Amino acid sequence: MLFNRDNYSFQWKDIGDIALGRPQMGEETSVAVYRMMQYSMRSVLNTEMGSERAAKLFYRAGFLAGEQFFTNRLKNGQPLNLFVAELQQQLLELGICILRVEDADIEKLKFTLVVAEDLDCSGLPVSGETVCDYDEGFIAGIFEAYTGKAFEVKEIDCWSNGSRVCRFSVNVR
Ligand SMILES: [Zn+2]
Repeated sequence: MLFNRDNYSFQWKDIGDIALGRPQMGEETSVAVYRMMQYSMRSVLNTEMGSERAAKLFYRAGFLAGEQFFTNRLKNGQPLNLFVAELQQQLLELGICILRVEDADIEKLKFTLVVAEDLDCSGLPVSGETVCDYDEGFIAGIFEAYTGKAFEVKEIDCWSNGSRVCRFSVNVR
């Protein structure tokens, strides 16, 4: 389907053929450019609809991305240890973050994930608040696509609230 502004739902293929489109510039850009996009968008959404609503929209966007990321970059139906290993590898390869599972209760589907050198927040000025709403949604989307169950993800530590890593609690709903 071609891009339709009025009826659009993000699909992985919408990212396009970067090698074709950027034969000299290539696939890579800088973290600053990614953050410029994210934080200018947040600024506009905050102004237009308030910070709480903006955070929810970032979560939902992250969720959509997480589902598509799982479907297009990860294998379906793997045991948990292989799923986690592949996820770690993909996040590393794409320069998103260094992921570690700190706690896992497989029966209750409860996890604590620790993310170092996060793309979204590592090195940000400390504001006292967590900022990785997009990552929360992204993780929820990935876990939901993997398990087929609804997940709730909450960031409990963030570079922005004075931590050196981001820590997420991941719970089945
Ligand atoms: Zn964070």
